[in-house]
Amino acid sequence: MDQQQFDLVVIGGGPGGYGAALYATSAGLSVAVVEKGALGGTCLNRGCIPAKAFLESAAVNRHVQHAAEFGIESSAPVVNFAVAQVRKQKIVDGIVKSLGAFMKSKKITVLDGLGTLGANRTVTVQHPDGSSSTVVGTNVILASGSVPRTIPGFEPAPPGQHGPVMTSDEVLMLSSLPARVAVIGGGAIGCEFASTFADLGAQVTILEGLPKILPGLDTDVANVVVRSFKKKNIDIKTGVKVLGHTPNGYGGTTVHFGAADSDAQNLEVDAVVVSIGRRPFADQLGLHGTAVVVSDRGFVEVDQYCRTAEPGVYAVGDLINTPALAHVGYAEAILVTKHILGESPSPIRYDRVPWAIYCHPEVAFSGPSEEAAREAGFDVVVAKHQFRANSRAQILGELDGLVKVIAKKNADGSAGQILGVHMVGPWVTEQLSGGYLAVNWEATVAEVAEYIQPHPSLTELFGETVLSLTGRSLNA
Ligand code: FAD
Repeated sequence: MDQQQFDLVVIGGGPGGYGAALYATSAGLSVAVVEKGALGGTCLNRGCIPAKAFLESAAVNRHVQHAAEFGIESSAPVVNFAVAQVRKQKIVDGIVKSLGAFMKSKKITVLDGLGTLGANRTVTVQHPDGSSSTVVGTNVILASGSVPRTIPGFEPAPPGQHGPVMTSDEVLMLSSLPARVAVIGGGAIGCEFASTFADLGAQVTILEGLPKILPGLDTDVANVVVRSFKKKNIDIKTGVKVLGHTPNGYGGTTVHFGAADSDAQNLEVDAVVVSIGRRPFADQLGLHGTAVVVSDRGFVEVDQYCRTAEPGVYAVGDLINTPALAHVGYAEAILVTKHILGESPSPIRYDRVPWAIYCHPEVAFSGPSEEAAREAGFDVVVAKHQFRANSRAQILGELDGLVKVIAKKNADGSAGQILGVHMVGPWVTEQLSGGYLAVNWEATVAEVAEYIQPHPSLTELFGETVLSLTGRSLNA
């Protein structure tokens, strides 16, 4: 059996894993990555990228539906979802291929197969042809990610077969548009799918167990999404529990659900999207003969530098109990590499990382909501401004949304350090970076108010909101 030695061996080639490989290589370390599927992981193959490609097809349909308002007459648009699927897959395949070529050009060794970690940072790789090899890392990063959670009775059909029940994995492989969709779970991913299907013309119902969708979001922001979803005829049913479903024999099914205080209701649909979150995937990591601890919830336990209990073994990304976001995986990859290099990096401030939800209208935020800031004991000053007052938003015809800035209240009552920036509206996922910089830098209202925003631009609303917290303003 071959046995090669590397400065770093990474198990998993998703954002956490390939991020670590690329950053460590750029810092001069020799690196091997073990991946059992396709490079890019969930994010590139079954998550961020394909989901946003579908959202873009939905956005084009929305724009064409409203083209006449812009003086462009077009014939009735027809959604051809098979083309959207081909386009999405072309984007995914292109990025996966470029990533592989880039890693090769950086002399990263990519090992195709299932990696298991044993004692002394030894990783055994079971290759698809049945052979195996062993690599040893001076350091090892576990980055095996996560998989969709399912509900008993709502399991998707086995691979190669089709059924009405899907997780994100199956939805992203659809080639035809279901006419009626039930989305179980009103979190970020559920809302993105609800928005996609509604903007493509499907009848969508969200079934959420909690009292509101997008729990944890600032209430003002969540309310805008709820109002906008209602305008799209998305039926939002909160406080309900799904009880089961009865397939109708024609590809669809009837979902049975109910609230605590009412009789069960039925919803006939062509597709059920189960979107109740993801679970960490430590299942195939081996870990025998190591001190790595996996919690009851399946997360690999780490400290603030992403170190496991096994010396020289780290874990990053969805496998650990930190925000399940691709860019958090990248940040952890960089943190670990710096730690390996002995550079004493600052631990990540998870309470400030940028969040982005790409439904329409988009949501983006960093730092605590107004409710969370008050609950944490901060005395706060808050300003919020609506996109309908912004000239660029009017030009775009995208009036729904707002920017809300939450700042610490100084002893004299004025607004001080910016704690949270919360946005909902057009292209806010592209606009958050200024707000995130302010929050993470611990900048004050007075400092950020000095910054000039281009005109006409959507980001003027962030500038205006901060400026108004100084007690003076231009347009408010
Ligand atoms: P993964 O991306 O899950 O990669 C893990 C890799 O490890 C996989 O390729 C797997 O095959 C491999 N692996 C597992 N076990 C082994 C083993 N034993 N040996 C070898 N290989 C193994 N995040 C965002 O930031 N923005 C978004 O807009 C966004 N949208 C999303 C939309 C959807 C529909 C979904 C499902 C997720 C989305 N996410 C988004 C979340 C994002 O995809 C994850 O946070 C991210 O992919 C986690 O990266 P990771 O490297 O930890 O794990």
